[in-house]
Amino acid sequence: MPHTYSFFQSVERSFDKAAQFTKWEKGLLEQIKACNSIYAMRFPVKMDDGRIEVIEAYRVQHSQHKAPCKGGIRFSDEVNQDEVMALASLMTYKCAIVNVPFGGGKGGIKIDPKKYSTYELEKITRRYTSELVKKNFIGPGIDVPAPDYGTGEREMAWIVDTYASLKPGEIDAAGCVTGKPISQGGVHGRKEATGLGVFYGIREICSMPEIMEKLGLSTGLVGKTVVVQGLGNVGYHSARFFRQGGAKVVCIAEFEGAIYNSEGINEEALFQHRKATGSILNFPGATHLAKNSDALELECDILVPAALENVINKDNAPKVKAKIIAEAANGPLTPDADEILTSKGALIVPDMYLNAGGVTVSYFEWLKNLSHVRYGRMEKRFRENKNMHILAQIEELTGKTVSAEERLAIMRGADEIDLVHSGLEETMISATREIMEIWKKNPTIPDMRTAAYVNAINKVAISYMELGIFP
Ligand code: NAD
Repeated sequence: MPHTYSFFQSVERSFDKAAQFTKWEKGLLEQIKACNSIYAMRFPVKMDDGRIEVIEAYRVQHSQHKAPCKGGIRFSDEVNQDEVMALASLMTYKCAIVNVPFGGGKGGIKIDPKKYSTYELEKITRRYTSELVKKNFIGPGIDVPAPDYGTGEREMAWIVDTYASLKPGEIDAAGCVTGKPISQGGVHGRKEATGLGVFYGIREICSMPEIMEKLGLSTGLVGKTVVVQGLGNVGYHSARFFRQGGAKVVCIAEFEGAIYNSEGINEEALFQHRKATGSILNFPGATHLAKNSDALELECDILVPAALENVINKDNAPKVKAKIIAEAANGPLTPDADEILTSKGALIVPDMYLNAGGVTVSYFEWLKNLSHVRYGRMEKRFRENKNMHILAQIEELTGKTVSAEERLAIMRGADEIDLVHSGLEETMISATREIMEIWKKNPTIPDMRTAAYVNAINKVAISYMELGIFP
């Protein structure tokens, strides 16, 4: 693809490629593609040294076919309107694919957070929030931001506090943003959500005999070799769940290098080793690869790029040997790499669906905020009493008793974390099946990314029709 295409234009290109496989008229497709509302703002903030700085920021609502809009806020000096528009559109399609009833949105503040004090960052975040409130661009039923690159729980806590102060008495104020600390209305299980979603999605694909046969692989995850790039939030948790699911994580790459052990690497031990030594290198039992990028070219069943965008491009794609590329990061493959690897017969599991665990659990957090009750509070004790009763009956009828350990396991009712994980598992499994079903029904669809887009376009189009906008 020539470099003249912007990020938003390249999203539009993927959309157009998939739109050919749908029945919708051109006008409706144009409406789905368009970014509905774009708020570009400038506001002044007084810095610690007394200087006034004009801050450039954005919030884009790509689609309001479902309310509220949803998408993270990025703090980066690379932020620009085109990028925010592209990321907002991807959110619309991502939410549709995982059946999360939100429209797509995204926000960005053009700052390098490392260059500001905590107090300055707090002022910028709070001012940004009040600008959104003034223009009605935030609210539990309007538009609900979340963390993204450069932001986390701390910023979300500032946002909810600012919002609640400006909207006294708004009973659902906590639902104006997700990714909050637990003490501020956050939900358990959000931290690992993206990595766990990646695991659930790939496990489901590996259970499909016809897909595995085409790739020359056996079904199931047990024994599959996995390479993970990036030991950050998504990479660490993906590696953990793959190991626990019986796969062998043979290589992990980080900034400083890549390590290999054919017997598998324990990511938790490696994480502790990195914390203690400052590097993943010299990890007991593992050898070093010459360059960290060599990890991408290793012989393996599943490659999980979980670091940055564009890491697989036209130069290294021909050397990638993995059968399955699990796009845990956003945009790890350039369009050239995508074509090269697809033509080599690899299965590229697209980011737009595979890393949707974060937004899915954000949806659960928002539901928790609107219901004003922690998951499991109403039914946990009831379920435990019921289980105890059933167990007592079985013991009486059989004349046998279970061990104390088994008793605890059988009796236990679901906590918030159990319900969040189970909701995420259900979401990722059904999303995988839906995409594969579309692909199977229309074998002329060239790849899984296009099939995912077709699914998203169909769902958004149906919503527009149901709203009576295109009768
Ligand atoms: P993170 O900052 O926690 O982790 C990224 C890790 O990658 C860091 O440890 C970094 O040192 C490492 N890294 C950077 N360049 C590398 C390289 N060339 N080789 C090896 N390692 C390298 O970030 P994250 O939250 O895990 O996000 C990773 C990717 O996943 C991003 O593309 C992000 O947009 C995407 N994503 C994240 C979430 C989420 O919930 N956190 C959700 C959806 C998508």
